[in-house]
Amino acid sequence: MRKYTKDGRHQLELVVCNQCGRKLLVENHILREGVCSIRESWGYFSGKDGEIHCIDLCEKCYDEWVRGFRVPVERQEETELLGV
Ligand SMILES: [Zn+2]
Repeated sequence: MRKYTKDGRHQLELVVCNQCGRKLLVENHILREGVCSIRESWGYFSGKDGEIHCIDLCEKCYDEWVRGFRVPVERQEETELLGV
């Protein structure tokens, strides 16, 4: 869950983990820790057509969540960061 300033600049104010309710570290409107953010715009073939669901999970809750997966998370290296 995220909150932004309402002064027109729309700056990040608060990020709360949806699972554990912990406030994540936000300094000067910048999130200073890892977070898994999901924004799903449910479509016609779902039972939630037209709804947009947003969640934020802290890294600890993300790790606990994916540990329960039958098929492990697909991991890739972020090659764009290497400065090709
Ligand atoms: Zn959490």
